[in-house]
Amino acid sequence: MVPGARLVVLGKQGAGKGTQCVRLSHHYVVPHVSTGDMLRAAVKQGTPLGRKAKNQMDRGELLGDDLIMEMVAERLRESDVRARGFVLDGCPRTVDQAERLATVLHPVDLDLAIDIEVPTHQVLRRLAARRVCVDCGANYSVSNPPMINWTCDVCGGEVVQRQDDTEEAISRRLELYERQTAPLIDWYRSRHQLESVSGTGAPDAVTRRMVKVIEERRDRRGGRLT
Ligand code: AMP
Repeated sequence: MVPGARLVVLGKQGAGKGTQCVRLSHHYVVPHVSTGDMLRAAVKQGTPLGRKAKNQMDRGELLGDDLIMEMVAERLRESDVRARGFVLDGCPRTVDQAERLATVLHPVDLDLAIDIEVPTHQVLRRLAARRVCVDCGANYSVSNPPMINWTCDVCGGEVVQRQDDTEEAISRRLELYERQTAPLIDWYRSRHQLESVSGTGAPDAVTRRMVKVIEERRDRRGGRLT
């Protein structure tokens, strides 16, 4: 049986987190828990949470830690997560969220946080070309479009540019990443829970690098990740 995993994936916007998290969730047969996807679904459905979140998301601002951690804690309590684990995408984004996540997960902590490293000039290029499905969140780009007329290959939804992939919102998100999220790398490193991989090159190559660091860690620890 494929062992589960409890993973957090870190990286700048455009580092390929979404794509790699989907791949890892298939590889380890665990749910992909993306705070961005959950929030975009809430916006689309017009729920109270979505109405509260939309404006800040469009401007590239971070939502409050309380709101995010309540949403994440609720998802992590569900039976699929409890049975096999998770790949957490887009959270934590602040040290406060990471501390609260450890509390939510207690007594079984995270296995590993993986940082996908991509130079800023490259993420800017990727973000400008990025297109996503409004229904399932599948990722495409101008150079790798869906097969038929911007219709999602996975679910048939419309494939568009994200509202927060404007030049202004992108620069705000990258600024917040440096200020609020990058310190998490040291935070996880100091807890011996961090591995870094290069996010450049083909998506398949990046997935192989990520699986390799996870499996090497499992081997070193006699089948366990922590
Ligand atoms: P993402 O798809 O992960 O880039 O998230 C899109 C937007 O959702 C972000 O720019 C934030 O406005 C909001 N968001 C998602 N996750 C978080 C989080 N962990 N903390 C605060 N805001 C978040």
